[in-house]
Amino acid sequence: MAEGSQRTEELPEDVMSDDCMSSYTHVYSPDLLKDQVAFITGGGSGIGFRIAEVFMRHGCDVVIASRNLQRLTEAAEKLTKATGRRCLPLAIDVRQPETINTAIDRTLEELGRIDILINNAAGNFLCPASSLSFNAFKTVLEIDTMGTFNASKVVYEKWFKDHGGSIVNISATLGYKGQALQVHAGSAKAANDAMTKHLAVEWGPSGVRVNTVAPGPISGTEGYRRLGGPHAENAGAFSSIPLQRAGNKTEMAHAVLFLSSRAASYITGSVLVADGGAWLTSPNDVHRLLGFWSSEMKRDRK
Ligand code: NAP
Repeated sequence: MAEGSQRTEELPEDVMSDDCMSSYTHVYSPDLLKDQVAFITGGGSGIGFRIAEVFMRHGCDVVIASRNLQRLTEAAEKLTKATGRRCLPLAIDVRQPETINTAIDRTLEELGRIDILINNAAGNFLCPASSLSFNAFKTVLEIDTMGTFNASKVVYEKWFKDHGGSIVNISATLGYKGQALQVHAGSAKAANDAMTKHLAVEWGPSGVRVNTVAPGPISGTEGYRRLGGPHAENAGAFSSIPLQRAGNKTEMAHAVLFLSSRAASYITGSVLVADGGAWLTSPNDVHRLLGFWSSEMKRDRK
């Protein structure tokens, strides 16, 4: 299919920055999450911000939680202004379970319940394995993998064990083919995909569903900028993607909304790949990526 021939009317609205959309067309029922509460790690930026907005546009109150409270507070103001729903910004570091404990207690005091947990917080950058420090590898595993376990366990113990709920983890396709310069994030997300199944098995009897969305390259995000998205786009590399383009943040939010909601009431332990078919066909060229990585390193040092 020629480039540009995809049915553009099928693409949902999005804006590149961490701002709310000026218009939004509902695909799902606007009251799909009415009066529910979602806790979104990393909800102050990128994909997490858009998940928060789309959830709020479906009647949900949200908590957005990460390290930078000032950015979270500004994000929460924008989200409430655009949607009229409550948004509570809370400072946590997913590597420190006690900070999550405090935030979940605050959430239950202020909002009274938790229906959905989105494990979206992550750290990522390109780096060849031979240049990656032991500490850098450990840090990515601590944020992405242990952070996902920490948040899931705290929410389960404090609320989901007795009330049920839905967990959606945000993964990646990096480990499927061993993506060059991504041993840290690819390993971390592969562990999370296994965790999705383990927790689905153990917590299903308590009424907890655990699923994952694995995005491909998503425009308007820090991940896209850091991992060479604009460079790949300019070099025409997206023509190898079956759907011929990067995804947008609202498309990810719609996939997450589906799995979080009662629309997916019999789905647990699954990984939904939302990447336009990218991992099936994208090249995995170490030399091209090493060239991009070293030119970025030189630019950073200037
Ligand atoms: P992003 O805007 O950088 O989002 C990452 C978020 O995680 C930030 O809000 C950050 O907030 C938070 N965070 C980082 N370390 C944390 C910690 N220790 N404790 C708590 N929060 C922490 O990037 P994004 O591109 O939207 O990525 C969102 C998710 O999508 C990630 O899981 C990523 O792996 C996945 N993904 C993205 C793409 C893409 O193309 N963008 C592709 C595949 C997968 P603070 O700095 O305030 O802590």
